[in-house]
Amino acid sequence: MDKKNLNDCFAHDGTMLPHGEALEKLTRVLTPINERRTVALENAVGEVLAAPVLAPRNIPAHTNSAVDGYGFSYADYDPQAGKLFPVTGVMAAGSGLEGTAKRACAIRIFTGAPVPEGYETVVMQEDVELVSTSEGDKVKIPAGLKRGANVRLAGEDVREGATVLAANRCLSPQDLAAIASSGAASIECYRPLKVAIFSTGDEVIRPGTPFEHGKVYDSNAAMLRGLVAKTGAFCDDLGVLPDDAALIEAALSKAAQTHDILLTSGGVSVGELDFVLEALNKLGSVHLWKIAVKPGRPMSFGQIGNCLMLGLPGNPVAAFLCFLLYGQPVLTTLSGQKWQPPMRYKVRSGFFMSKKPGRREFLRGVLEYQQDGQMLVNKYARDGSGLISSLTEADGFIELDEDVVEVKQGELVDFIPFGSFGL
Ligand code: AMP
Ligand code: MG
Repeated sequence: MDKKNLNDCFAHDGTMLPHGEALEKLTRVLTPINERRTVALENAVGEVLAAPVLAPRNIPAHTNSAVDGYGFSYADYDPQAGKLFPVTGVMAAGSGLEGTAKRACAIRIFTGAPVPEGYETVVMQEDVELVSTSEGDKVKIPAGLKRGANVRLAGEDVREGATVLAANRCLSPQDLAAIASSGAASIECYRPLKVAIFSTGDEVIRPGTPFEHGKVYDSNAAMLRGLVAKTGAFCDDLGVLPDDAALIEAALSKAAQTHDILLTSGGVSVGELDFVLEALNKLGSVHLWKIAVKPGRPMSFGQIGNCLMLGLPGNPVAAFLCFLLYGQPVLTTLSGQKWQPPMRYKVRSGFFMSKKPGRREFLRGVLEYQQDGQMLVNKYARDGSGLISSLTEADGFIELDEDVVEVKQGELVDFIPFGSFGL
């Protein structure tokens, strides 16, 4: 973690902060952790690549056949009439380059086998006619083939010395295929972030414990663990903190010594807020941002020594959204990834609503396929931001900009599928 004090960067006067500015402020000041380690390719899904992977040789290394068929030289072929060639040898996948390319002849060749030098075109076996003659087997190649047909050129995937994968990406299974194609068995990655999560609230109890009147089961911890894990970070679930400034202070102070980020949820209601902020202000610095988004409550950002602190709202729907909007960019940027806004798509609205200008709204959206195959997005039927079931039934968020005051039925709206957040 960068040792610089983020205090000033996180400071913001009490005015409403537009969503875009909040994001800009966060991603601008954060720099990736600078600790690296070597990771074996087979364990690398979800790791963040710290150095580019280059191709030490052409990929593919040699020009090879894309099909099972017959290779020949286009110079000997007649594209108008086709041609009858004697078959003089076989090239199987895995063979060396010892195969010879005799003029006016063809060679039996299989998918992936190197095309002998002197030949550059392959015909599919399905398209030829085999003819037995007193001079041996011949192959009748039909008219109409193009020079270089059915051949994969050396280096057509990646040229020798070129970049197979740029650094700063979270590795997917398909990325591992690309790295493997270069021959590398291990790669340089950033050390995964260590994140601690805390739930807060005297009313919050852990699932698995007997229910008591007035309590609520902790939904945020399980959700945040999963969300953090999806960013590639390690997550320690450090339990529920009571609404008590001294206990909060002790727990956060301890966790800050062994983690890169503390993620809390709850404690932002009037009254509770004071002692969360009080505890954090004693330990380091914390700033409250009132961000102009709905649903959302104030979010807090701070620093305890070299550890960052992010305070999410307690309401699980708001905690989910705020994590995706602000927690994910913070974690991905610190982890060494280049943060990209989630992909959004224009989808036709199936609803009407009016909206207050000046704040950005994220509605839970449910997709619906119509009979003609067109897709509509509907607003989740009930509005309450306390409805956790809305998160399991929705397909993503409908995003309405600050200046939107009305959504008409049939109008195109921005839709961010949960998949865009990697969920
Ligand atoms: P707070 O931000 O602490 O004022 O909490 C707002 C609402 O979210 C209250 O109804 C809390 O009971 C609820 N809440 C807070 N934390 C959790 C949690 N971990 N799981 C479920 N609900 C929570
Ligand atoms: Mg609370």
